[in-house]
Amino acid sequence: MEECIFCKIINGEIPSSKVYENDKVIAFLDIAPVNKGHTLVVPKEHHKDIMDTPDNILAETIKAVKKVAKAVMKATGAEGFNLGVNNGKIAGQLVMHLHFHIMPRFENDGLKLWPGRKYEGNEIDEIAKKISSLL
Ligand code: ZN
Repeated sequence: MEECIFCKIINGEIPSSKVYENDKVIAFLDIAPVNKGHTLVVPKEHHKDIMDTPDNILAETIKAVKKVAKAVMKATGAEGFNLGVNNGKIAGQLVMHLHFHIMPRFENDGLKLWPGRKYEGNEIDEIAKKISSLL
């Protein structure tokens, strides 16, 4: 994956503000943070997104998310954090190499959650049934 910016960071071809690394996962600061301390946790193997990533790699990545998030909270004094994955271009994924965003949150930081919409009539049950039938 020559054009993948995260593979280049993992290979040391591009510098990053690395905060953690083990044999499967790396974590570094996002260069355009929503809040200071915004950290990306990235599996070292190149996989496009969650669906494309083998379960064992995904498990190692989420374990690293938990470990790194604790340190991000302590280092920044954050009271909580949002964990984000943009899965697919339509969802805002810019780098096609799976990554988790740890976004530390502070009182009155101006960030908002996504809007909550409403279902009409039986729609909620129909959609639940449809999803359930595909599992
Ligand atoms: Zn990559």
